[in-house]
Amino acid sequence: MLTKQDIIAEALRLEFADIGCTDAAPFSSRKHYLLAHQEEYGWAEKLGLSLLSGTDPQTIMTGAKAIIVLLVSYFEESFPLQMERNFGRCYLDDDRVTKDGLALKIKAMRQFLRSGGIDSKVPFNLPHRLAAARAGLGTFGKNCLFYFSRQVRGSSFVYPVAIVVDQEFEPAEPTVRIGCPDWCRNACVAACPTRALQGNGRIDPRKCISYLTYYGEDLTPLELREPMGMYVYGCDRCQNVCPRNTAWMTETKPQNPRVASKSNNFDLSRLLHMDKAYFEKKIRPHMFYMSAENLWRWQMNAARAMGNSLNPAYLADLNRALTENPDKRVQSMCAWALERIEPVKREA
Ligand code: SF4
Ligand code: SF4
Repeated sequence: MLTKQDIIAEALRLEFADIGCTDAAPFSSRKHYLLAHQEEYGWAEKLGLSLLSGTDPQTIMTGAKAIIVLLVSYFEESFPLQMERNFGRCYLDDDRVTKDGLALKIKAMRQFLRSGGIDSKVPFNLPHRLAAARAGLGTFGKNCLFYFSRQVRGSSFVYPVAIVVDQEFEPAEPTVRIGCPDWCRNACVAACPTRALQGNGRIDPRKCISYLTYYGEDLTPLELREPMGMYVYGCDRCQNVCPRNTAWMTETKPQNPRVASKSNNFDLSRLLHMDKAYFEKKIRPHMFYMSAENLWRWQMNAARAMGNSLNPAYLADLNRALTENPDKRVQSMCAWALERIEPVKREA
């Protein structure tokens, strides 16, 4: 029979940043919050994300006894500026489709558990950050992100992987609270360009740029185009301005070679003009929240980012897409982006 110490040792051998444990009790506060805020979260159920059922580990595994939380540090290496400029960092080295990185480590961990007679499930819909806080691994920020208390200089550049298991382990002392310093004047709330953050550790996900870039339903409303800036997929602004992240962000890091080698594929011009074949081969394996049917959204986001760059070098691309792209939403955003760049060009 595996002990908690055996599992901790294996997690560290597999180079997870840390590991914690909590019981399999339902996340009742989360469930009540979701039920009380259906207007803000109803879209997630429609998309099949099943957030509500994920609040009860028994729906994931009958007889669940504990939750093991593994922490992954995703910003150990630096990323090319052109990638950080347009994409959230947590998506830059994402192997959920290619399954050639983190997925191998999770598989190895589950095999280890199985070798000790422990059954496990890795749900996508359990509240992972809350599970990590319940497992005593860190605290929340007012930007709703999870800050690791023991490594990566206390930063938020981690994501928790929750594994539901059928064996009991002694749970850790929970640290479910906001851990921001008193002297921070809510830099994240002030910096959020779309006012998604409410200042009390809550967010309206529908206003978050991450949601808007990959789930926004139609042509991005005029009033959001400039605030959304140059982000094409995801957003890191509330993490970048956070003083809890300064120590880790200012560390010198070696460049991530996998991300560097694919960065040209994510060039804005290529995204704006890509066809489905290019998308399926070069983009979707790394960033998969949008399907080929929603290519227009990628192209619309690329056009908006070009417009907000104020860079006349993109005028030719935007004019080309304006006449060649068959989608009215992309055309419309190209026209807006051309207008946004042209006055700057005229004034120069
Ligand atoms: S990720 Fe961006 S849009 Fe979302 S809350 Fe943070 S700053 Fe606001
Ligand atoms: S910016 Fe300030 S308030 Fe926001 S998460 Fe960071 S420390 Fe907390």
